[in-house]
Amino acid sequence: MNRHRVAVEVDQAAAIKAGKNTWGTQVVEVDVAALSEDERDELARLPYTRTQREVPSDPMYGVLALTSTCEIALPAIAEATVETVQTLLRARRRECQATIERFRARPIAEIVGEGGQNIMIDTGNGNRMYLHVFCECYPHVWAALQGDIEAEIARQKQAKHEAEVQRWLDAPVKDWCDYLSFSYQEPCVRRYIPIDDRLAAKRADAQRLVDAEIKRRADNERRAAEDKAALEQQRRLYIELTITAHGTKNQQERLAAGALPLGEATALAEQVIFAALDGLPRYEKLTRADAEHSDDCDDPDDCHVSYDAGVATQMPGCVWDRMQAVRQKLARDDAKIEARRHVATTACKVETERWGIRVQINEGGYEFAREYDSEPAE
Ligand SMILES: [Zn+2]
Repeated sequence: MNRHRVAVEVDQAAAIKAGKNTWGTQVVEVDVAALSEDERDELARLPYTRTQREVPSDPMYGVLALTSTCEIALPAIAEATVETVQTLLRARRRECQATIERFRARPIAEIVGEGGQNIMIDTGNGNRMYLHVFCECYPHVWAALQGDIEAEIARQKQAKHEAEVQRWLDAPVKDWCDYLSFSYQEPCVRRYIPIDDRLAAKRADAQRLVDAEIKRRADNERRAAEDKAALEQQRRLYIELTITAHGTKNQQERLAAGALPLGEATALAEQVIFAALDGLPRYEKLTRADAEHSDDCDDPDDCHVSYDAGVATQMPGCVWDRMQAVRQKLARDDAKIEARRHVATTACKVETERWGIRVQINEGGYEFAREYDSEPAE
């Protein structure tokens, strides 16, 4: 006797109507010699129950599953017998045939994944159907459709490739387009499309652009390095001249020994540059204490104050006068002299302003700036 154990699902309602007390998953022992050729063929295609690969001591180990799954619904049975197993085997065969026909009758809308397990077909009237478990549950459905699905995958891939190639052929080659990828580190011709002969000329054009870009960047870097070296040389000379002309003996000795801090040297240079303005008060920062509050401010001590400052092109007359006075006293055409308006704004919406005169002079590769006080606006 060649017996197989087959799990079937006895329907509760059908069992009760038939006067039976048992339902749910039942295991039937089937002698294959008692089955027809078609039934044996279907039996041979059944998957094992889920536990088959897990624990040999499990009572369901090695049991074939003959239950409704996925797209295929089996008829309700009232009891678990060899006859009902035969009924289910025949029903399963019919259902699988129907699935194959349904699949072939409809266009494949989309290949979701490769490998044939994720196929979506259009079932008409806007509905879609996933056929994604053929290999697991329906070996003969999969066997029948495998060729169709693989051909469709190949067709869709080719269509996608053609569309991509056409997009490349249609697009002009220019500085920035899909052919080129200018990541900062590595400008390159993108290679995400498999090489296609039709793209050869365009790829060559794109490569020329990439090569030009790489050269341009190298030139820029070289120029920047040269500029930087020249600036450093200019600064070294300037510090030398300044310390020689205005530094103390001690500073001159330290400069010669390479022991003079750069900050000390530039501070001296700044002093020399702005010497003509000595005696003018420097701008003093607006603080909380300066901020005025509205009469109905809830709590001036706790009122939030925010600060803002910017160069102003329009200004009160007194600020203008002070600017002219600074210009005359300094007597340097290369000085940049600007009026700056500083504002403290309180949460109670009162603005307090103060004006400064900013003087900037670029010399010896350095930028020197100071801000002087001005009469507050009326
Ligand atoms: Zn306030």
